[in-house]
Amino acid sequence: MTRLHECGAPGCKEAVRNSHVMCRPHWLRTPRHLRDAINSAWADRRLEDWSAAILEARTWHTANSPGALAARIIGEKL
Ligand SMILES: [Zn+2]
Repeated sequence: MTRLHECGAPGCKEAVRNSHVMCRPHWLRTPRHLRDAINSAWADRRLEDWSAAILEARTWHTANSPGALAARIIGEKL
């Protein structure tokens, strides 16, 4: 049986296989350097770097969610 967890992007409820960090759309939106950092940290089993890179990706998604971008354009804080 495949184990599932929620997508790592804040507010996303998509079920993701345990071997993946985020659902495919969120993963593809994650900046390349963060995806590379997550993948290489995982490959080397550097778990502290891995979780730090995931936290950075989550922060990026929070700042770049459609709602946050719209709020920035109309000058409102979330
Ligand atoms: Zn997602």
